[in-house]
Amino acid sequence: MDPATSELAGTEPTGTDLGSTDLASTDLGSTDLASTATAWFDENARDLPWRHPSAGAWGVLVSEIMLQQTPVARVEPAWRSWMARWPDPASLAADTAAEAIRAWGRLGYPRRALRLHACAQAIVEQHGGVVPARLEELLALPGIGTYTARAVAAFAYGQRQPVVDTNVRRLIARAVAGRADAGPATTVADLDAVEALLPASDRLAARASAAFMELGALICTARSPRCHECPFWSVCAWRLTGSPAPTGPTRRPQRYAGTDRQVRGLLLAVLREESGPVPAARLDLVWPEQAQRARALAGLVEDGLVVPVSGHRFALAGEEAGQHP
Ligand code: SF4
Repeated sequence: MDPATSELAGTEPTGTDLGSTDLASTDLGSTDLASTATAWFDENARDLPWRHPSAGAWGVLVSEIMLQQTPVARVEPAWRSWMARWPDPASLAADTAAEAIRAWGRLGYPRRALRLHACAQAIVEQHGGVVPARLEELLALPGIGTYTARAVAAFAYGQRQPVVDTNVRRLIARAVAGRADAGPATTVADLDAVEALLPASDRLAARASAAFMELGALICTARSPRCHECPFWSVCAWRLTGSPAPTGPTRRPQRYAGTDRQVRGLLLAVLREESGPVPAARLDLVWPEQAQRARALAGLVEDGLVVPVSGHRFALAGEEAGQHP
């Protein structure tokens, strides 16, 4: 999924103004986009481990959080390791936040590990260790926002929920509203626009939601949509009007090298390798620029990922009492 934002970071990872007005005025006749997408999905869906029934609601929840800002190819091995170690919320909740951060490895945006750990604890304390099925209960879990709650309700529990990530927003903006880009997010309108496309049946709607996401991820990509392979080819409003160029500002790809994110990653890598507090002098070695290094470290502390301990040392959250020279 698009790595630009995350509900775990306090912002919505998904959702866009798909334009309910545009949607209503688009002449798609009786074309049933959900059925078309689902038929394509039946033939083309990737065989991903979290799509197997054995993954359960916990497996779906973990996958959705990992996928928010990390590509499938990197998530899959991490997801398998995570689920082998913590096959249910109780096992993760019984472990430390530091171990969750450590296992997160290089998936990026490690606050997600912290929030997932807090989520597991809440599931144990409030729901007997079972991922809740009701949307309101999912939304009340720490770190779970509009997108993830609906994804779990749909994909784990087969409910009729609009699941609107960046890819779905773009797909529907093009196919239905005839726009190259989805535009700025307006979550309620986005959910309404996608819900209007879903079949009435829970089972079919959940399948259609998965199909829309897969089409947006694999076919209706941001930069190079593969229209000739798309099941919406004959009805897509954007294609039928000549694929007009986007009118909004072009989004630049996010830079990583030299950013505070890179420095944070380097600092965390050192802390992950140890089982307890690390001297500040050791962290000083990861990046030559003192001001940026200090800023990155302060950010990790502020996010609760790292804790300062006595003796000019730092530790992963939950390991501040560890024994390390
Ligand atoms: S025809 Fe092209 S632009 Fe339209 S939905 Fe399919 S891939 Fe996207």
